[in-house]
Amino acid sequence: MFDNLSERLERSFKILKGEGKITEINVAETLKDVRRALLDADVNYKVAKTFTDTVKQKALGQNVLTAVKPSQLMVKIVHDELATLMGGETAELNLQGHPSVILMAGLNGAGKTTLSGKLALMLKSKKRKNPLLAACDIYRPAAIEQLKVLGEQIGIPVYSEPDNKDAVQIAQNAVKEAKAKGYDVVIVDTAGRLAVDEQMMQEIAAIKHGINPDETLFVVDAMTGQDAVNTAKEFNDRLDFDGVVLTKLDGDTRGGAALSIRTVVNKPIKFVGTGEKMEAIDQFHPSRMADRILGMGDIVSLVEKAQEQYDEEEARRLQKKIAKNQFDFNDFMSQIQQIKKMGNLKDLASMIPGVGKALKDVEIDDNAFKSIEAIIQSMTPRERTNPEILNTSRRQRIAKGSGTNIQEVNRLIKQFDQTRKMMKMVTGSKMGKMMANMPK
Ligand code: GDP
Repeated sequence: MFDNLSERLERSFKILKGEGKITEINVAETLKDVRRALLDADVNYKVAKTFTDTVKQKALGQNVLTAVKPSQLMVKIVHDELATLMGGETAELNLQGHPSVILMAGLNGAGKTTLSGKLALMLKSKKRKNPLLAACDIYRPAAIEQLKVLGEQIGIPVYSEPDNKDAVQIAQNAVKEAKAKGYDVVIVDTAGRLAVDEQMMQEIAAIKHGINPDETLFVVDAMTGQDAVNTAKEFNDRLDFDGVVLTKLDGDTRGGAALSIRTVVNKPIKFVGTGEKMEAIDQFHPSRMADRILGMGDIVSLVEKAQEQYDEEEARRLQKKIAKNQFDFNDFMSQIQQIKKMGNLKDLASMIPGVGKALKDVEIDDNAFKSIEAIIQSMTPRERTNPEILNTSRRQRIAKGSGTNIQEVNRLIKQFDQTRKMMKMVTGSKMGKMMANMPK
């Protein structure tokens, strides 16, 4: 995501490399390039112009600051302005209601149903909520079915009334059901249309009026660029929604919608959808997104993702085993499972500063661990817990069983030995004591 824009911006900043100070001329030249990059990323024309004007003012105003290089200063100013453009602060979901009611609005195919499921799962697993999904698309029976399938998949109940043709009533009944049965969040999925039309607007406005939601989220496909911004404007004029969700940011979007929508409708982006899987949803953090656009990576998100998957008990168990030099192939395997749970490998790698760009054209598929897993699975339980017994004939048998070859098996065992040695060193008491005695 945003690869092209990142690359173009980086090139713009190169104009300033080697310049001793910021001048009207070199700033103008750089910003001309920046503006072109923004326009090519499908950023709204007015937004791009105001953006570069503000950056110019700030850059020239800081002329006296000689401690940093002009190119660094420019990156910093552009970074901060990009974050401001996307809303500055992280916007939280309003979950004050009893139950909290969240209404989804948007065109067909925007990703409302998928998002309803993702949001429900996220609230359940991260906020310990007990959500109810409500299917209010009265036109497409398939839409109700789709939500039910998702609900089943993530273990969240779905309220529906297939024979009722009154969407307002269904939504109201869903809220009643939630109150009666103790659900604390109701997520109302509604019908979309292929394009904005009066009937749809009337219906969604009536639902909003009928249930008075705590949050109305406008869901839009980021790949539609400027159209996304125009549709947002039309929905906002009518619904006065509370937040935007940009979906399909995993695709080949140029980023224009993410950068323009906030300014045009003056509503925050709250979440982004980054894939078809139910876990592919992220809270939107303007500053981190700016980091990513500028190729600075997104270490904070990476660390958070790791923490989410981190299992403290498991870590303690492992530490003990490592200390006793008992770390074995079963542990190795469970480590791989943990990494895999963190998500798509390429996405993860791209959060590390400098790595995203380097990997742009490299295909990392999620099957990278397949052969390692196959090799470990072909070992007997005894071999897994006692790797030292893996002699040549055993290795040959494992290679055959896993559909790999002896070199791969040897390589894995060597890696495993090294990992084990390294772990022993790091957790060994010497190192631990050294760290503990270090001045804080
Ligand atoms: P709705 O008509 O607004 O309810 O849209 P759906 O939820 O049915 O989504 C339409 C299509 O977009 C489906 O095929 C989804 O799997 C897909 N989709 C939704 N969100 C995302 C996303 O964040 N990334 C990708 N790649 N696909 C998505």
